[in-house]
Amino acid sequence: MKPLWKLDRTPPTGTPFDPGARHDVIIVGAGLTGLSTAVMLTRAGLDVAVIESGEVAELATGANTGKLTLLQGKRLAEIRKHHPAALVQAYVEGNREGMDWLLAFADHAGVSYERRVDHSYAQDPGGLDMVREVHDAAQEAGLPTRMLSRDELSSMAFPVFGAVALDEQVTIDPALVTHALAAELLAEGGTLHTGVRVTATHVLPEPRVETPVGPLFAEHIVIATGSPILDRGLYFAKMRAFRSYCVSFRVSGDLPTSTFISVDGSTRSIRPVSDADGPGGDARLVVGGNGHPVGRSDSEAAAVDDLIEWTRQYFPDAEETHRWSAQDYESHNQIPFVGAMPRGLGSIRFATGYAKWGLSNAPAAALRLTAEILGASWHDRPSWMVKIGTRLTVPADLARGAVEGAKVAAAATSGWVEAERTPVPVPKPTEGEGVVANRSGRPVAISTVGGVTRAVSAVCPHLGGVLAWNDADCTWDCPLHASRFEADGTRIEGPAVEDLKVLPRKSGG
Ligand SMILES: Cc1cc2nc3c(=O)[nH]c(=O)nc-3n(C[C@H](O)[C@H](O)[C@H](O)COP(=O)(O)OP(=O)(O)OC[C@H]3O[C@@H](n4cnc5c(N)ncnc54)[C@H](O)[C@@H]3O)c2cc1C
Repeated sequence: MKPLWKLDRTPPTGTPFDPGARHDVIIVGAGLTGLSTAVMLTRAGLDVAVIESGEVAELATGANTGKLTLLQGKRLAEIRKHHPAALVQAYVEGNREGMDWLLAFADHAGVSYERRVDHSYAQDPGGLDMVREVHDAAQEAGLPTRMLSRDELSSMAFPVFGAVALDEQVTIDPALVTHALAAELLAEGGTLHTGVRVTATHVLPEPRVETPVGPLFAEHIVIATGSPILDRGLYFAKMRAFRSYCVSFRVSGDLPTSTFISVDGSTRSIRPVSDADGPGGDARLVVGGNGHPVGRSDSEAAAVDDLIEWTRQYFPDAEETHRWSAQDYESHNQIPFVGAMPRGLGSIRFATGYAKWGLSNAPAAALRLTAEILGASWHDRPSWMVKIGTRLTVPADLARGAVEGAKVAAAATSGWVEAERTPVPVPKPTEGEGVVANRSGRPVAISTVGGVTRAVSAVCPHLGGVLAWNDADCTWDCPLHASRFEADGTRIEGPAVEDLKVLPRKSGG
C-alpha cells in the first residue's frame, strides 16, 4: 500500500537528536502543516525543530490525491449550510492565501505542477441540486465558477450529469513538495528529527515535549499530528475521521485532462497524472474515494476493489499500478481547528480538521500559526484570519457532534460485546486476516501478516475502544477516535501515543 508519490523516493533524513536541546519552536509532525509552519517561522528568523515519528510526509500528506483547489468538492456548500456567507468567504480567502504560498514555494524550490480545470460533479440526476449549491456558495465567496450541463461534459468516459467547474486549479506531487519543504528547513539551519515519537507535552515548569530518547524544550510548541496527540480540549471528540483509498492506473486510451470529484453517491475523485505533477512513469490516472469512518467498515479491501471495478468499467484498458490509503479529520463545525490549545497557557498550538482538503488548508493554518507565534496584532492580520478566528459554534454543529458521540458510544459497546462472543481458542488467522477474541475477559487481537501470527491487546490505549482489523492495510484500527496500529502493535497514528501491549501467542489464541 505505498503511494505512487513515494515510489523510488528517499525522503530527507533528519538531524541527530540532542536530548535537552532548546529551540524557539518545536513542531510535532512533518506533514504539510508542520513543515509549512516550520519554513515560515524559519524564514522569520526563529530556531525551529520538527519532530516526526515516521518520515517526512509519512501519513495523509504523502498519500493524498494531490489536488490543490479552491473548489473542494462539496465543502463550500457544506460550510454554507451551517455558517454565514462571510465565513465561507473567509475560508476561501484563507485557502487562496495558503494555495498561493505553496505555489510560490514550489516555484522557488523548482517543484513543478499542472494547472487544470477542477470539477465537482453529479454522478446521478439526484446530485444536481448539490452541484447548484456548490456553485451558489462558491459564487457568494467570490469564486468564478461555471455550471456545465450533461451535454457539455458528454465526452467524459464516466457518467457525469452536470458539474460546477473552476479554472486554473492545480495538481501537484504532494510528497515531492513536502520533501522540498523539509530540504529548505534543513538548508536554513532548522532541525528535523525523524523516527522520534512525541509521547507527552508539558507547559510547566517550562514548555517541553517528551520522547523515548529524551525531552526537548521550546518557547512554543505546535501539534501538527493530524488528530492532536494531546487530550487537552478533547478535540478528538469534536471531529470525525475518514479513511479513503486511492488507486493509480496505467491507461493507454484518452484520459481526462481535468480533475473531478463527485458530490453524490460513493465518492469518485479523478486525477490525471503527467510528468509535471507526478513521479513520471506509466501511471497516468489516479482514482480515489470510498471513504468511511476509521475502524467502522466491514472490509477496507472491498472498498479498494470497488474503486478498481468502477475504473475498469469506464476505462476498460486500465491496469492497476499502485494502491494506497490515508485518513483525514473533519471538525463538527466544518471549519478547521487552528490556534492555541486550551490549558496550554498560550504555549501550545495545533491545527487539524481539513476534511481532505489540506493542500491549501495546511499552509493557510501555517500562516495563522505563524502570525500568532510572531505576535502579529489582530489589526495586522488579514481579515479572513480575524473572521475565521472569531466564529461561533452553531446548534447544527452541536447536533452533528451528538450524532457522532452516539456512534462512538455504540462502537465502544459493540466492540466489547463482539469480543465476548468469540472465546479463545480460535483458528489461526490466514495470511492478511485478523480476529478479535476473548482471552480471560480481555479482548486479544490475533493476526497473520507476512507469515507471522501475532497476538496483541485489542484494546486501544487511548480510551479503551476495541480495535477492528483493517484488511486493506493489515492494521488494527480504533472505531472510537481513529488511532491505528501495525499488526505487531506499533502505534501508527491517532490520539493514542503508546503501542499495543504484545501478548504471548498461545496455541489457538
Ligand atoms: C485519501 C486522501 C486524499 C486526499 N486528497 C487531497 C487532495 O487531493 N487535496 C487536498 O487538498 N487534500 C487532500 N487530502 C487531505 C490532506 O492530505 C490532509 O489534509 C493533509 O495532508 C494533512 O496534513 P497534516 O500535516 O495536518 O497531517 P499529516 O499529513 O497526517 O501529518 C501528521 C504527521 O504527524 C506525525 N505524527 C503523528 N503523531 C506523532 C507523534 N506522536 N510524534 C511525532 N510525530 C507524529 C505523523 O507521522 C505525520 O507525519 C486527502 C486526504 C486523504 C486521506
